[in-house]
Amino acid sequence: MAAMAALTLHPDRFFPSDGDTRRIARELFARVEQLPLICPHGHADAGWFARDQPFEDATSLLLWPDHYLLRTLYSQGIRLEEIGVGNPSADRRAAWKLFAANFHIFRGTPSRLWLDHVFAQLFGIDVRLTADTADFYFDTIGRALATPAFRPRALFRAFNIEKIATTEGALDVLADHDCLAREWPGRVITTYRPDDVIDPEQPNFVSNIETFCAGQHSLSWPGYLKAHRDRRAYFRARGATATDHGHPTAQTADLPAHEAQGLFDRLLGGRREPGDAELFRAQMLTAMAEMSCDDGMVMQLHAGPFRNHNKELFSKFGPDKGGDLPSRTEYVRALKPLLDRFGNRRELTLILFTLDPATYARELAPLAGHYPCINLGPAWWFHDSPDGMLRFRRETTETAGFYNLAGFNDDTRAFLSIPARHDLARRVDASYLAELVATHRLDMGEAEELIVDLAYNFPKAAYKL
Ligand SMILES: [Zn+2]
Repeated sequence: MAAMAALTLHPDRFFPSDGDTRRIARELFARVEQLPLICPHGHADAGWFARDQPFEDATSLLLWPDHYLLRTLYSQGIRLEEIGVGNPSADRRAAWKLFAANFHIFRGTPSRLWLDHVFAQLFGIDVRLTADTADFYFDTIGRALATPAFRPRALFRAFNIEKIATTEGALDVLADHDCLAREWPGRVITTYRPDDVIDPEQPNFVSNIETFCAGQHSLSWPGYLKAHRDRRAYFRARGATATDHGHPTAQTADLPAHEAQGLFDRLLGGRREPGDAELFRAQMLTAMAEMSCDDGMVMQLHAGPFRNHNKELFSKFGPDKGGDLPSRTEYVRALKPLLDRFGNRRELTLILFTLDPATYARELAPLAGHYPCINLGPAWWFHDSPDGMLRFRRETTETAGFYNLAGFNDDTRAFLSIPARHDLARRVDASYLAELVATHRLDMGEAEELIVDLAYNFPKAAYKL
């Protein structure tokens, strides 16, 4: 066997390289290193915690569900069939070995940083993942996962998670959350994500709406809105404090009731006209904002992904396999109809996310730096990385300040990577704040407050946790 490279996590990782700033960053990071993790937006499976069954193996836990990994492997010509995606009976060790032999392609990406953290910190592995160490990794991880300490609830505690929000569709019956409320209350809450009944371009949109409105008097626009109000209350009863809207654009609209009814009838009656799908999503964002003013649910808008861009991959493997791309996104004009109605309402919190960094300084920071209802979510998805987070801070802080931010959330379905992601975010914030202290733009005492706010207080406050 070739000499194996050591895997270590450097205590100064992601900190500035000059000594003065690095010293300040270390001090600031020490203030938040042990703080509990607040996870107000993400895609953990509530069933993990409800059933508390052991995770199976490295491949099904770390490789198959991680669309960041699938995207990069695919870009290097590795077909998803070769690593067993979509085929639970595939040879999982063989899939892991192929992944391990290609782990070098993740150099310079956050996936590499997150995974190294998981391997070293959680599994105590001290050699790098390569073709030579693939079996050792697969066996070490498999053995650990079979122990009680690696059950989902035990990991939740070990990760020091204070609260985690999952994300469920409007038609989800939330059986796992009901079980959690009985057996393990106060830790895992849901989030109302009604894209399946709001986005006419989703598969089965019409039958989804028919199911959704089944308890109402009629399949009409007012009945449909009433179904949303009822459903939001059902989610709130399972702990939800927020809604989430994953839309291709940030477009909003404020139609008179008779036009909204006409639009709804066209979509349900199969008489869809060009632009109707976008107009309906736009109208529904404003309708959701109105309901948030009434019921207090925090509204999140994740705008801009071009989902399932790779047609062939989508037809073979379905969504969330790494075939999503960012697209140019406009906010200032798009949000105006919603903001004209509700932008000055103190009851509303609208947390904005983007995949378009060109909007950070030009649109998002100015919007958050003016409208009382708008908060900015953290750097998202393609930008949830050391440089991505630093770029977000540099481009938004001078206009939005810190106090219009929702703080960090990990937005991940990769449960084991949650501590790694919070560690990275806290270190980047320590580095950014250290720069402000070193250049005498902030006192150390102010930076010490802010580092705790960004990691802990802001997400709790923004999401009403
Ligand atoms: Zn998300």
